[in-house]
Amino acid sequence: MSDGDKLVILVTGGTGLVGKAIKTVVEEHGERQDNEQWIFVGSRDADLSDLEQTKKLFDKYHPTHVIHLAAMVGGLFHNMSNNLDFFRINMKINDNVLETSYQTGVKKVISCLSTCIFPDKTTYPIDETMIHNGPPHSSNFGYSYAKRMLDVSNHAYYEKYGKIFTSVVPCNVFGPYDNFNLHSSHVIPGLIRKLHDVIMSGGGVFTVLGSGKPLRQFIYSIDLARLIIFVLREYNSVEPIILSVDEKDEVSIAELATRISEAFEFKGEIKFDTSAADGQYKKTASNKKLRSLLPTDFKFTPFNIAITNSVDWYKSNYKTARL
Ligand code: NAP
Ligand code: GDP
Repeated sequence: MSDGDKLVILVTGGTGLVGKAIKTVVEEHGERQDNEQWIFVGSRDADLSDLEQTKKLFDKYHPTHVIHLAAMVGGLFHNMSNNLDFFRINMKINDNVLETSYQTGVKKVISCLSTCIFPDKTTYPIDETMIHNGPPHSSNFGYSYAKRMLDVSNHAYYEKYGKIFTSVVPCNVFGPYDNFNLHSSHVIPGLIRKLHDVIMSGGGVFTVLGSGKPLRQFIYSIDLARLIIFVLREYNSVEPIILSVDEKDEVSIAELATRISEAFEFKGEIKFDTSAADGQYKKTASNKKLRSLLPTDFKFTPFNIAITNSVDWYKSNYKTARL
């Protein structure tokens, strides 16, 4: 193997939910190839909202490929009260990472959008061509516009320099190493944390925020990690690609609460706090493009197994988890 064949893959956000899942798949599930060196970094390695720190990080590792996950991330309620920060911080991080990647000759960058940045008023299922077709839901417009600008930047880098800077569009992600903070988490880690607290305190009522009616597609972080690695190796277009479970696997928040209760073997009452926001009713995304590229035998982890794995992980790790 010549040195020219060597891939140095830098994963920004490598200490987060998705980054840790990629690390697990690469290091524990045997997905690392001989010519690859993987580097996982978090905000302690460099604050990527700072250009000088970003440059230093790239000078240290000389990546040939970047999986760019680092972002200010959070669930509905965190977004609703911090639109300005979500917008400014993510715009800075993304500009620094893409421009430094360009300046240092990185061959490919895969950045992360989200199905929650699509237009609020739209037709379903949403697909990759619809990202910019109208305003996002008002609850998370800061995050959404910053993420949409990644797609704009990717196209501009391609137009000016021919660079393959692309993006993946995951649906709602969950799994080990999630953020379980009650104020900033997404719904699955929030509900796992809440029910665990209820059980530990001997309580009998599990309160779910909102009406329980909204629908969501959820992807297990380990499945998403496998798909991002697939994109790294096999997908060479600037156009975004949705990484989601099938449309038929969409579940309501109420069904989700039942699944989590079953995983905990909780027999108490589930209540819905309808004074809390529901957010966007649904964001049903089509994974047709992904399915057309994936091997036909690719299987997502069944939802109940992935939920049980996540609950078991939290039960074993709650003392050191992100709370
Ligand atoms: P996460 O668990 O909150 O992790 C965020 C990561 O970003 C951490 O590694 C964090 O580092 C890093 N980070 C944050 N601010 C940074 C900064 N200023 N400089 C450097 N690093 C910084 O998030 P995640 O759920 O894994 O999300 C990964 C990507 O997927 C994000 O781009 C997100 O927008 C996207 N996404 C997530 C979901 C979801 O449901 N979670 C859905 C769709 C798309 P430290 O922990 O070391 O501070
Ligand atoms: P979204 O998928 O981007 O909207 O973000 P979330 O993962 O935060 O999911 C929000 C949906 O879950 C909304 O319908 C909320 O009303 C509902 N939900 C129910 N309980 C909770 C909770 O404890 N935390 C969060 N973040 N959402 C909750």
